[in-house]
Amino acid sequence: MRTDDRSAGMDQPIARRDFLNGLAIAAGSIAGTMLPEMATEVLAGEAATRADRPYYPPSLTGLRGSHPGSFELAHELRHGDLQLQALRSAETYDLVIVGGGISGLAAAYFYRERKPTARILILDNHDDFGGHAKRNEFEFGGRIELINGGTLGIDSPRPYSVIAAGLLRKLGVDPVKLDATCTKKSFYGSIGLGRGIFFDRETFGSDKLVVGVGKMAWADLLADTPLTPRVRADIVRLYEAKIDYMPGLSWEQKKERLARMSYGDYLVTVARADPGVLPVFQAKTHGEWGVGIDAVAALEVWPLRFPGFQGLDLDEPGAAPRSGATPHMGFTASGYAATGGSYTFHFPDGNASIARLLVRSLVPPSIPGRSAEDIVTATADYRELDRTGAPVRIRLNSTVVSVRNVGEPASAREAEVIYSRGGTLKAVRSKAVILACWNMMIPYLCPELPERQKEALRYAVKTPLVYTSVAIRNWRAFRELGVHDIYAPGSYHSSVRLNQTVDIGGYLSVRSPDDPILVHMVRSPCKPGLSQREQHRAGRAELLGTSFEVFERHIRDQLARMLGPGGFDPAADIVAITVNRWPHGYAYEYNPLFDPYWNEHEQPHVIGRPPFGRITIANSDAGAGAYTDSAIDQAHRAIEELVATEN
Ligand SMILES: Cc1cc2nc3c(=O)[nH]c(=O)nc-3n(C[C@H](O)[C@H](O)[C@H](O)COP(=O)(O)OP(=O)(O)OC[C@H]3O[C@@H](n4cnc5c(N)ncnc54)[C@H](O)[C@@H]3O)c2cc1C
Repeated sequence: MRTDDRSAGMDQPIARRDFLNGLAIAAGSIAGTMLPEMATEVLAGEAATRADRPYYPPSLTGLRGSHPGSFELAHELRHGDLQLQALRSAETYDLVIVGGGISGLAAAYFYRERKPTARILILDNHDDFGGHAKRNEFEFGGRIELINGGTLGIDSPRPYSVIAAGLLRKLGVDPVKLDATCTKKSFYGSIGLGRGIFFDRETFGSDKLVVGVGKMAWADLLADTPLTPRVRADIVRLYEAKIDYMPGLSWEQKKERLARMSYGDYLVTVARADPGVLPVFQAKTHGEWGVGIDAVAALEVWPLRFPGFQGLDLDEPGAAPRSGATPHMGFTASGYAATGGSYTFHFPDGNASIARLLVRSLVPPSIPGRSAEDIVTATADYRELDRTGAPVRIRLNSTVVSVRNVGEPASAREAEVIYSRGGTLKAVRSKAVILACWNMMIPYLCPELPERQKEALRYAVKTPLVYTSVAIRNWRAFRELGVHDIYAPGSYHSSVRLNQTVDIGGYLSVRSPDDPILVHMVRSPCKPGLSQREQHRAGRAELLGTSFEVFERHIRDQLARMLGPGGFDPAADIVAITVNRWPHGYAYEYNPLFDPYWNEHEQPHVIGRPPFGRITIANSDAGAGAYTDSAIDQAHRAIEELVATEN
């Protein structure tokens, strides 16, 4: 071990990193048949933090998200390496749902509303339910700390539809009321902590953290940074001057041009900023798009109030747009521009609470309680998810490899689903199947789909992302430096922040800097210069090829360099690390820089989602919207399509 590794704490006994790496390597090299079940059983037994919870995935640490054992078989299917033999179906259902994310769970909920006696089986390849809406749970000294492993908030670029808002209401969730009573947005501000920017030496020449974004004048904030005077002056101008950089053009012409150039190009070629500003803004789009400002259109970031547009006399974001104001914008940008967005609220474990509320409603014995408040601290009993005879069964660690109509699609009365669990292929029959999994997976599962539909389903490339949760012994260093949220444009994780404070039911967020807390870090693996979809493909390959040890080394190094001046010691202060790796993250939303300007009926997600015999398609990909309301709306559409064929 290198000296700097030791001082960073790479020799400290945190969660089973060596074991996890070993498993990941084994998973890549062994034929997938044995892996999913084996991985889960060993991991659960090995890593559960509480003796009374023999199988409790939310408390597992190490590589989570698409965890080892969850994806290898699907990749074999993609490579054509999997041989399927004829199987006898041991079970029959009214509905089988592929995918236990919010869309799959919501589909089950909607179907049970329409057909209260329906028997439903939900299959998911992960060891936990919720899809992207995953819960990370840590226990320190008798206290439970929660954070989102993926989907954070009830928060969308558009108001929730009647359907999606209605589902929340039926689950007992009133986001407006909960936001008013539970969210403590100003807590860190009230104790004097602010937002900062970390300039790293590899990108900017020396390490420097500045604190006071939004509070200090930009000139003062940047005065002591490693940026040149020209770059500093240009950043100040972009944020503070009200200059029309496109004089002589109407607002329609401005928007048309802004839709066709990247924000990076806009800054340098239109706003005439020094190219040295680009690395400072490069990662500002990572959180929403998973790529940098080289691959996001200038018009897309204007409604998010990025600097440089205030003198252009465009509409006020959120105000009703003037006619033709947003012709070519993507889903996120056009939504925010037109409506200002939905309500906002998040549970301490993010939308995992919504997944858990759905599971409680579908399988009541699995999670105790009655309200949106008590779901937060309720412990799920995973043994209840798949009980013989229960009307709804949720079967985890089950990768579906084939879905087909039994007979001709037009006249079929049943479909057959083949999945692998515990190294064994099994078949089930069902009157119908909902594919609430990912669009690009569907052509492999249903090779009989029409070619045009398969081609459309393959188009989208989901956005790879990493949400890392780090448990630290105390947050005195944050307090000392006066910061709770850091943008780090050149670093491995481009965003680092203390867990947000939400007090709900019996759950109270940490208040004292002397107490342990969770730190949320975000990485968007991308390759500037390529199209958005190519960057996503490259980022996904990178994620799947990165071991936990590499993540850990970066995490320790970055936290030490950012927070060291405040007294942070990675070897002593880091207690546990969970890397939520999402190689297939957000649904793809189309990018005006790289995708054609389609009419709605020509868009790949619309061409890709018609029913095929007894098979219908849900999931947020089917709405080309990377949001929970899209997942719910698409589930509802799929169920209505299905019910229409049954009446
Ligand atoms: C890191 C991250 C943060 C996000 N934050 C937000 C947010 O704050 N707010 C918001 O509204 N949205 C957010 N989203 C978007 C999120 O994707 C949606 O909100 C929603 O959770 C998607 O639900 P879904 O059911 O459509 O898809 P998923 O959650 O992806 O669920 C699909 C499930 O199907 C499974 N599956 C796929 N193939 C198979 C197979 N062959 N066999 C069995 N199972 C299979 C998948 O593994 C997965 O578990 C975020 C997404 C990510 C990745």
